[in-house]
Amino acid sequence: MNDSILQTSNFIKDIIEKDKANNHDLTIMTRFPPEPNGYLHIGHAKSAYINFSLAKENNGICNLRFDDTNPTKENQIFVNSIKDDLAWLGLKWEKPTRYASDYFDKLYDFAKTLILNGDAYVCDLTPEEIRTFRGTLTNPGIDSPYRNREISENIELFEQMKNGCYEEGSRVLRTKIDMSSGNLNLRDPVIYRIIKTPEHHRTKNKWQIYPTYDFAHGQADSIEGVTHSICTLEFEDHKPLYDWLLEKLKIHHPQQIEFARLNLSFTVLSKRKLANLVSEKYVTGWDDPRMPTLAALRRRGYPPVAILNFCAEVGVAKRENTIDISLLEHHVRKELNQTASRILGVIDPVKLIIDNYPSNISETFEAINNPENPKAGTRKIPFSREIFIEKSDFMENPTGKFFRLTIGSEVRLKYAYIIKCTDVVKDPKSKEIVEIHCTYDPLSKGGVATDGRKIKGTLHWVSASDSIPAKIKIYDRLFTIEKPETETDYLKYFNNDSLITKTAQLEPSIISSKEGSNYQFERIGYFVLEKKYSNNNSPIFNQTVSLRDSKK
Ligand code: ATP
Ligand code: MG
Repeated sequence: MNDSILQTSNFIKDIIEKDKANNHDLTIMTRFPPEPNGYLHIGHAKSAYINFSLAKENNGICNLRFDDTNPTKENQIFVNSIKDDLAWLGLKWEKPTRYASDYFDKLYDFAKTLILNGDAYVCDLTPEEIRTFRGTLTNPGIDSPYRNREISENIELFEQMKNGCYEEGSRVLRTKIDMSSGNLNLRDPVIYRIIKTPEHHRTKNKWQIYPTYDFAHGQADSIEGVTHSICTLEFEDHKPLYDWLLEKLKIHHPQQIEFARLNLSFTVLSKRKLANLVSEKYVTGWDDPRMPTLAALRRRGYPPVAILNFCAEVGVAKRENTIDISLLEHHVRKELNQTASRILGVIDPVKLIIDNYPSNISETFEAINNPENPKAGTRKIPFSREIFIEKSDFMENPTGKFFRLTIGSEVRLKYAYIIKCTDVVKDPKSKEIVEIHCTYDPLSKGGVATDGRKIKGTLHWVSASDSIPAKIKIYDRLFTIEKPETETDYLKYFNNDSLITKTAQLEPSIISSKEGSNYQFERIGYFVLEKKYSNNNSPIFNQTVSLRDSKK
């Protein structure tokens, strides 16, 4: 794991430092508590990173705890994907993996303690009535008619709820706090509800009642011995309840600390909105490479360390803001520039024929795998009379400073020769250029002119008969506006050009590459091999990020 967060200070670190100064034996314990009801996204990565790195830099412990208190939305598939994603990021949690459901017995006992102390009661109001009775920010709530039930009756009803004697929605267990509190979370919040179907993915049909998030979360933190319970700002209003419950139960009292969640431009991070993109088929799944989920970013070829470096740079703050997605892309480029092998690949090919190059020979040239890393070595690339170059590298009537190919001009073919354009052949109907004709300077092997003349442009190319056709998926931003998250009709701003598929021609060395390998296609961008063989036998590459930030 990278250690960059270690170098900067932030308000959470300040709190931890102070706590350690006051208690020299304190072992810092944090936790990352995802609900297994969706895939992790880049915002979760930030939360996980903060929790894991705070523990690590303090020689402490970070638990992974699944907040699995709602069987209607949660399942094992999400549990597995969350574990995979965290492992992929290189975040190591304390074993064993924790589950809120591990504590269902204990939580049930805690609830009974509250009842016995007169701090909780079974309420028979309907969910609708509970909402109405709660009041509003300006109006106090109204006490439930069941608020003053006898303790013994409450105990009996709660046990019957547990035993499945009542229908879903017919009864709940509520704390008895204050129906006129200025904080709506303290107006006798529900702490247990009846859920009969579906089965829980771990406890199966053992339970007919489940604790709410508010009841499970703080108590689970306490059971595990968490010292600093770090969460996002929306829980600030829940903190008085978090504290109230721990005080009433007289158990270990972790400190809840809130920070601002990550918002990223041109995408959405709300699980509900992401789920909509999937169910409405705007994308092919949670791991569609356009999504901000970790599963998608992995398919897209983002190196995990780039994501951690991004999280470290973004840091923690108390105020919400939107981070420019280009900052994330910057970290991806920075990392891939160091690690990705270079290859020559032509995305929009047009044929180029070197008329004075013999048709019966071919040569190979030595190409550098990674100029940033000499240890990456070299490879051989074949060269022949007919090659492909990028359509955009030729202009018939160039404007301004165009140092690439045009009739009469010279360019260097990377690693090969200097060529001069003599003519083009067009399709008689479409007038599109179908062939570019050139001559080469046989003395310019390696791309250097013997007479010292300066050649400004260098083009990438592939030998036509040796190249491998590949399917290339080029991605753009998911939405056309910067802050789709704040729009109710956000789907209206879906970027219909967010995926373009092309057939490229790549140098033959990619035949031996492994799925998941990152490449820089020289002069174009970074790509990852998604599948070695597609239906028509050609490999599929995903574009990770363009070589430069063209949106700046
Ligand atoms: P839900 O609406 O389902 O609760 P959630 O995104 O909060 O969605 P959780 O699984 O509860 O999902 O999140 C796990 C942890 O990640 C929580 O501590 C949550 O606060 C944090 N988290 C979620 N989204 C972000 C975000 N955008 N930035 C930072 N942290 C986040
Ligand atoms: Mg949540």
